[in-house]
Amino acid sequence: MKALQDLVRPNIWALQPYSCARDEFKGFKADVFIDANENPFPNGVNRYPDPLQEELKRSISPMKGVPVQNIFLGNGSDEAIDLPFRIFCRPGIDNVVAIAPTYGMYEVCADINDVEYRKVLLDEKYDFSPEALLAACDDNTKIIFICSPNNPTGNAFRREKIEQVLTAFEGIVIVDEAYSEFSSQRPLRLDLTKYPNLIVLNTFSKAMGCAGIRLGMAFACEEIIGLLNKVKYPYNVNVLTQQKAMEVLQNLTILQRHISQILDERQSLMQAFSLLPICKKVYPTDANFFLTKVTDANRIYRYLVERGIIVRNRSKVTLCGECLRITVGLKEENRKLLAALRQYV
Ligand code: PMP
Repeated sequence: MKALQDLVRPNIWALQPYSCARDEFKGFKADVFIDANENPFPNGVNRYPDPLQEELKRSISPMKGVPVQNIFLGNGSDEAIDLPFRIFCRPGIDNVVAIAPTYGMYEVCADINDVEYRKVLLDEKYDFSPEALLAACDDNTKIIFICSPNNPTGNAFRREKIEQVLTAFEGIVIVDEAYSEFSSQRPLRLDLTKYPNLIVLNTFSKAMGCAGIRLGMAFACEEIIGLLNKVKYPYNVNVLTQQKAMEVLQNLTILQRHISQILDERQSLMQAFSLLPICKKVYPTDANFFLTKVTDANRIYRYLVERGIIVRNRSKVTLCGECLRITVGLKEENRKLLAALRQYV
């Protein structure tokens, strides 16, 4: 890996971050807070949140097997995807490389930040070649994105392949493990210490069942976490989100049960789906959704919408012609989907 200073934009390296009221008295115990121009009358949210979400990180740490100092929390994974562009990529000069097809926000963030986005197509099995990814890089490539399990294809990539990229690439590798709880593969976040250039993304939106609170996580070496904290908005994770996340973390048994139910449902739904006359192929998955090639994706999508059933039409995505992406729902929801498709002519 290059020295971090050579990867970071010079203005960010030199940046003096905003120092918020709640950062400045650290180390002292206090019970009179007249520093931040808040309204003093209590209503549960009249105080600013902890800018570094320390209590929440202490609860997340044992669950994820990642030390507190290696955790960044943001407003959804969206924030953790956007910040690395702003930290590492000089607009109009640098580029990033990503597998394709993959999660759409990487490209949108690249476009917003005026950073060239280089796509390297997966093969017909939706697998990637480390050599092809590395060949697409040049001196100005700052980040490689690998989403595993990948969205929309559903499959997880072999760890050795990702590790090959991590070892050979001199810049930052972002591995988005948003769906790792649904996969039997060992998550890469557990090997953070081996790779100073690795950023792993996780989210509360999928297995954790909290898409509505917007809480994303990035795991990386302390220096990279420091950069993310330097550039983020001072109070990026609000009080209600932090409270709800703490509550959810106290009920991990329920979550675990829901994940196993989703995995059981995934298996029966995919099995039943593959027998439908409209189904040409069900792709293997390691996530809480699966991709399927059907006889006429646009027509079937509209047919389902008319019956109040919304799936994701991915037929315009590269390598996903005639494909729909289907999230595993509740038993009853999956039953409605199958019943509707059995009547499709
Ligand atoms: N990463 C991947 C691979 C996703 O598919 C999604 C959501 N579709 C996200 C991240 C978004 O996560 P969040 O809700 O935390 O922004």
